[in-house]
Amino acid sequence: ACTTEDVVAALRRCAEVISEHRDELVELDREIGDADHGENLNRGFAAVVSAVDSTMPETPGAALKLAATTLISKVGGAAGPLYGTAFLRAATTVGDAAELDAPMVAKVLRAAMDGVVARGKAEQGDKTMVDALHPAVLAAESATEVPVGELLKAAATAASEGAAATVPLVARKGRASYLGERSAGHLDPGARSTELLLGAFAGGQR
Ligand code: ADP
Ligand code: MG
Ligand code: MG
Repeated sequence: ACTTEDVVAALRRCAEVISEHRDELVELDREIGDADHGENLNRGFAAVVSAVDSTMPETPGAALKLAATTLISKVGGAAGPLYGTAFLRAATTVGDAAELDAPMVAKVLRAAMDGVVARGKAEQGDKTMVDALHPAVLAAESATEVPVGELLKAAATAASEGAAATVPLVARKGRASYLGERSAGHLDPGARSTELLLGAFAGGQR
């Protein structure tokens, strides 16, 4: 199962992975956007780490909510409110549960994706983070009989495949859509960051 400590450790891994891939995300966003995605997320997750350092959350839901409010206030652009909404919906779904089992984690991922879709109105195939999230949710929903760590690994693997599949797509949402056909042939930065974040959640989880 997944405890408060597990969620906080996962948030710290998110910050590490985003910091390691900051320049890569900047370059991806330079190709089809405005070159700020790596900087935006790095600032946001560094602030999430500061927030959990100063007030250790008491439940998994409180940790997710702290991440949400921090991301919403520190990350500008499209991705800040979208990831913020994802974490906020995740927190609401968890409520005040002390531990999350695999079926709950699958529900949390579904709620997070629904939040992104409600806010950004992107569909699968629009070349956004939804293209990584959607297959991850489906993978999680078919892995509810296995330990949480394995469910998260299955979700992360599916997110990687979903992110890679954005390369040939033409963007229909966000800044990259201004490029029209010229957005094809590039990996979507938000799909890549979703892949990295789910990988961070999966890494080191029991
Ligand atoms: P901005 O485009 O405002 O500079 P970022 O660079 O931080 O914001 O984030 C860009 C990423 O946000 C894109 O690569 C895409 O994955 C995601 N994105 C943009 N618009 C949407 C949307 N409407 N729905 C889902 N994801 C979106
Ligand atoms: Mg950008
Ligand atoms: Mg921007």
